[in-house]
Amino acid sequence: MEKPELTKEELQKKVAELEAEISILEKDLIHDHLTNLKTRGFFEEEAKMYLEMVAHSDDTRRKQWFGFRNASIILFDTDYFKKVNDTFGHLVGDEVLKSVSKTIEDSLREGDTASRWGGEEIAVLLLGANETDAVAKADEIREEISKLKFSALDLSVTISAGVASSEKGVHLSELVDRADKALYKAKETGRNKVVGYSEI
Ligand code: GH3
Ligand code: MG
Ligand code: MG
Repeated sequence: MEKPELTKEELQKKVAELEAEISILEKDLIHDHLTNLKTRGFFEEEAKMYLEMVAHSDDTRRKQWFGFRNASIILFDTDYFKKVNDTFGHLVGDEVLKSVSKTIEDSLREGDTASRWGGEEIAVLLLGANETDAVAKADEIREEISKLKFSALDLSVTISAGVASSEKGVHLSELVDRADKALYKAKETGRNKVVGYSEI
């Protein structure tokens, strides 16, 4: 049986309702304690829902309601983060993680989502962004992060990112896998850079 179609507003309302319900049951299921980014579990549910809408965006009525045809995943990973912990201590490492997360969160448009994917890896979902748009956004963030100042005065950090964009029939897990391969390439070719999956 066909699933009932949702408008963009209905979908956003549904996400908000879902968020409120879960919040009552268990706040920690939504937000990561340290960074206040979305948890991986919540992000996955939200991202899957949006990618499902994107997958049907060639249906003109849905496109009209939903408003965009594509979405991208950015996977960020701080460069040489182990060295930050080893040199400056775990608390400074936590401070870096919080600042990096806030920089990413503050640079996103409403509707876009950032999550603590694991350790110091951050996954971002950009709505209505193709790979070129997402690489540009990730690079803007990369630049901002390189300018951050910390309590340890001689500390600065850089970040690398991999980007993958939605394609018909490609599930979240595959998109993240592609972004991860692009991230690996960014690390392998010098760090402090952004690589799109189509470039590798
Ligand atoms: P690379 O440039 O290849 O990314 O090198 P790296 O040293 O950053 O390597 P990796 O990404 O594997 O390092 C992850 C480190 O992040 C190891 C782990 O101790 C640290 N880490 C993960 N979660 C936290 C956290 O919540 N706080 C702190 N301070 N460190 C964390
Ligand atoms: Mg890592
Ligand atoms: Mg790292």
